[in-house]
Parts: sequence; C-alpha cells; structure tokens
Amino acid sequence: MTTINSLVQLQDIDSQLMNLKELQGDLPSKVEDLSFRLEELKSSIHAAKTRIAEIDAEIRQLEGHESDRRTKVDKLRDQLYLVKTNREYDALMSEIDHLEEEIDTEENRELDLMQEKEQLEEQLKFDESQIGELDVQLKTQAGELEKRVASSKEEEIRLSQDREEILPTIESRFISKYDRVRQAKNGIAVVPIVNHSCGGCHSKITPQHETEVRKGESIKQCSTCRRILHWINTA
Ligand SMILES: [Zn+2]
Repeated sequence: MTTINSLVQLQDIDSQLMNLKELQGDLPSKVEDLSFRLEELKSSIHAAKTRIAEIDAEIRQLEGHESDRRTKVDKLRDQLYLVKTNREYDALMSEIDHLEEEIDTEENRELDLMQEKEQLEEQLKFDESQIGELDVQLKTQAGELEKRVASSKEEEIRLSQDREEILPTIESRFISKYDRVRQAKNGIAVVPIVNHSCGGCHSKITPQHETEVRKGESIKQCSTCRRILHWINTA
C-alpha cells in the first residue's frame, strides 16, 4: 500500500474515533461539573455543621457564666441590707453594676450567635435539599455517560487496533506531518481533491499539482491550508 493510501486510512480511522468522542458530547464535562458542585456543597455543609457546634458550645458557656453572675448579683443585693457605711454601699453597687454590664454584653453576644446559627441552619436546609437534587442529576448523567461509553467501547477498541496496524506502514516523518496538520485543522489532515480544489479549504489546485496528487507517488499538500491531498478514483 502506498503511503498516501495508508494516510487516507489513518484519517478515516481517526475521524471515526472523533465521531465516537462527539457522541459522548459534553456529558463528561457535565458529569465532572456536577461532581465538583456536589463536593463543594458537601464541604459547605460540613463547615456549617462545624460552626453550629461551635456556636452551641459558646452559647452553653455564656449561659453558664450568666447564671454564675446572676447568683453573685443576688448575693450582693442581699449584702446591701447589711452594709453600714455609704462607701461600702457604693462599692457593692458598683460591683453589681459591673456584673450587670457583663451580663448585658454576654446576652448581646448570645443573641448574635443565635442569629448566626439561624442563618446557618437555613443555609444548611437549602444545601441539603440541593444535594439531593444534584445527587440524582449526577447519577442520571453518569449512568447515561457510562451507557454511551460502553456502547462505543468495542468500536473504539477495534479502531485503535486498526490504527496500531497501520502506523508502522507509514514513515514517521509523514506521521509527524499528519499529526501537525491534524492538530491545526480540527482533526482533518487528509482531504480529497474535489473539482480541482482542496477538499478542506476549497483553494484551487493547479493542474500540475493535481497530476502529481493523482499519481499518488509522493505526499502533496495544499499550498494554502497544508492539508495532505489525495485523489479519489471514481473510474
Ligand atoms: Zn487547502
């Protein structure tokens, strides 16, 4: 088999492989995207739960302090009846005021924490409802992808084997040329001459150039797009 015939076959195999990939469409990236969002949600849920536990612990601690301080205030108020001088009275009063200020501050802190907790719980409820939906979507699309991949797997294996068989029949310099053009031209490196024009970019091919391509003895490229040209013998 001539080099150009091998290249035509290689192109045919590679085009079929490309079609198989296209059949999978954007499913792989959708599945990847969904998995990513699912992971993000899970970590956001985890962070919210951790924060809620911290808040609960801090609220319990604040409530403990508060009840200690209230007991102290009650005791100090009882002592107010027993004091003998104004100075002692003022000292007790200022201690009571100080404790009550602390109680106020802690109560405000507690309110802030409760508000934060409420917001987190709302977010958590939303995230958890989302996670269910995402999970269903992911399973459906991953299942669909798996089906498509499985159905094209056999064909892909067959084509890859054909490819392996054909590669050693082509000189490596032509394979590099083929790969370079294919990369630059959306996967199509070998095109037929159609109506004296390049089948890829439709530039006119000179009669002399066409004759050389028809002979098929050497590798000829379109002078405009650099695709490798071949001749389809319709006779
Ligand atoms: Zn061209």
